[in-house]
Amino acid sequence: GSVLDRLRFGKKGPRLDRPVVRAVNGVSFSINRGEIMALVGESGCGKSTVAKTIARIYKPTGGALRIDGEDVADHGFAQMLPVRAKMQMIFQDPYASLNPRQKVRDIVAEPLLQQTATAAERREVPAKIEALLARVGLNAEHAGRYPHQFSGGQRQRIGIARALSVTPGLIIADEPVSALDVSIQAQILNLMKDLRDEFGLAYLFISHDLSVVHHIADKIGVMYLGFMVENAPRDVLFSRPRHPYTRALLSAAPSIKEKRDKEEIELSGEVPSALSLPSGCCFRTRCPFAWDRCAAERPALRDVGEGQTVACHLIDEPERDVA
Ligand code: SF4
Ligand code: MG
Repeated sequence: GSVLDRLRFGKKGPRLDRPVVRAVNGVSFSINRGEIMALVGESGCGKSTVAKTIARIYKPTGGALRIDGEDVADHGFAQMLPVRAKMQMIFQDPYASLNPRQKVRDIVAEPLLQQTATAAERREVPAKIEALLARVGLNAEHAGRYPHQFSGGQRQRIGIARALSVTPGLIIADEPVSALDVSIQAQILNLMKDLRDEFGLAYLFISHDLSVVHHIADKIGVMYLGFMVENAPRDVLFSRPRHPYTRALLSAAPSIKEKRDKEEIELSGEVPSALSLPSGCCFRTRCPFAWDRCAAERPALRDVGEGQTVACHLIDEPERDVA
């Protein structure tokens, strides 16, 4: 599987005249074919940085990033080209990521044309575009229109068709439904799940919304201040969350909360700046259970069974876990 560890923010190396933000620390997970892995957390928690690093828009400054078993962390531009072909991104705002002056057929064909070498392959492109549009719920007539002629949900369908055009193994979707109405969200999420089943796709799905993640994910990583604090299969995470931050997020999500016990953990205080991380546990300034060990020692992610890993000292000292 992929291992991603200790990444630093930014395309360039650290500069001496400004603080280096370790936007993402101690992040480790793998995504298998056919699997939907979600990263969830408040804005600024580092989840988009993980997505952009896996897409190698950012270069990791440490650790390993394995795609199909190949460590691509140090790959240069040319070495990345064949790897990039295996990954596609879908963005939160499809309007911003679709060229307004291009017709839909050209938008969808773009990644495909970058990869088709022979004239015979190129002749097949129009038919392929038509089939892709049909598969995402649009039609052949839409191919000649421009992005502004579509609704937000339709534009996201265009973005999905474009991503699918090169038959990727992994789709990285950064808040793909956050800009859409709730009713449209469900349609797009169901489309993405159907495409996963049909093509054996893997997704890295970034979201701040637990109910969206509950709907789509097989596995979920919870992030806080650049750290992964908990990682578990979906049903384990929602029925037996272990990290106080995960438990607080679930307390605040009424639509999912009824599925579990009535625990209430309220978050108080502000998220600290990533430039001045608390010593020890990144969550301790907001954690109702924090004690002196939490300031002295940073908890590592630890396996607690059934695919669940948790970074919290309460795992060792469960008697302190009384709200
Ligand atoms: Fe709270 Fe301590 Fe656990 Fe951090 S390590 S989440 S501060 S109990
Ligand atoms: Mg983001």
